[in-house]
Amino acid sequence: MTSNTIVSVICIPMRLPFHHWSSPPLFAGRPRDKLDSALVRVQTQDGSVAWGESYCVEPRALQAIFETLVAPLACGRQADEETLLPGMQRVLHNLGRSGPVVHALAGLDIALWDLRAKRAGVPLHALLGGMRRERVRVYASLLQYYGKAELLHSVTARALAQGFTEIKLHERTAEALAAVRHATGPGVPIMVDTNCAWLPHEAEAAIAAMLPHEPYWIEEPLWVPEDAQALATLRQRCGVPLAVGENASSALALRRMAEQGTVQYVQPSVIKLGLTAALDIARSCEGTGTVCAPQVAFFGPGFLASLHLIAAQQDEVSLERLFVELAHVPYAATVPIENGWLQVPDAPGLGADPEPALVEGRYAG
Ligand SMILES: [Mg+2]
Repeated sequence: MTSNTIVSVICIPMRLPFHHWSSPPLFAGRPRDKLDSALVRVQTQDGSVAWGESYCVEPRALQAIFETLVAPLACGRQADEETLLPGMQRVLHNLGRSGPVVHALAGLDIALWDLRAKRAGVPLHALLGGMRRERVRVYASLLQYYGKAELLHSVTARALAQGFTEIKLHERTAEALAAVRHATGPGVPIMVDTNCAWLPHEAEAAIAAMLPHEPYWIEEPLWVPEDAQALATLRQRCGVPLAVGENASSALALRRMAEQGTVQYVQPSVIKLGLTAALDIARSCEGTGTVCAPQVAFFGPGFLASLHLIAAQQDEVSLERLFVELAHVPYAATVPIENGWLQVPDAPGLGADPEPALVEGRYAG
């Protein structure tokens, strides 16, 4: 045992109640009143603590995965062993190449990056190739309003008043986009995330109806989202950039999409694939026409990891922020969003640790 031996890996659900000025949207077939993810806390023998974040829709399942699979494999190992995580990925591969086990390892991966940077005494971006920009623009990502024009208009106006200059919708109709365009006026980028709305033969006409309102990109236009061939065909024919990636079934599949220019924007989620994979995808975009635009629909250590990645990557992109009121805003005091911008933290590691309320599990239930 050395000072760098991992002595504990635990998962603390983070279920943040939210309000979005409308009745709860549906998620996974049920009304959603909390935004879920999970903190991952790693401690080494010398008492050092580092933080990661995992995608989580079912806290009991994720906690069981940490207790029975992840912690037993990680504890007793050296935190800086290069083979630690790749070895765990291989050992656990029969339990699924996507899904909660992979999401658990993604959270551990982020925590190990936080630990490495803290030990080196440098901000995380220094380990990702260095900071290319000191601040990152943030876009307001509206939840679902199911085409209700009045609500879309008023929530967009609220976002603009808070200083946001780019908007994303989770809507599926030209009418919804028109309502938001009416609120923003011309020139404001509006991304449209359809969450896999259409079959390949439906998408072209649906997107064509939106074009007069100038969408900036269309996100996840197709069901199934990993149909690279159908996406490549749609890209050729639809006349607006496409974005996909948050549901990529593996890091390799997303990397292939980046390399082959299947779509213009690839969107790795660090809390599903890990920061190592997202960094690899960002690097594979360098010098190509494909842009890495990480998906960031979460608020914990994965949000900070994404901020460092965006600060360090070649292409300048804005960072996604779900536009909601949270019962607790992680890092509100340490890494605040001000007037639609984030200052890139320069403290060692991720730059801030989660607040006691989160660590103590006040939002775990
Ligand atoms: Mg999305």
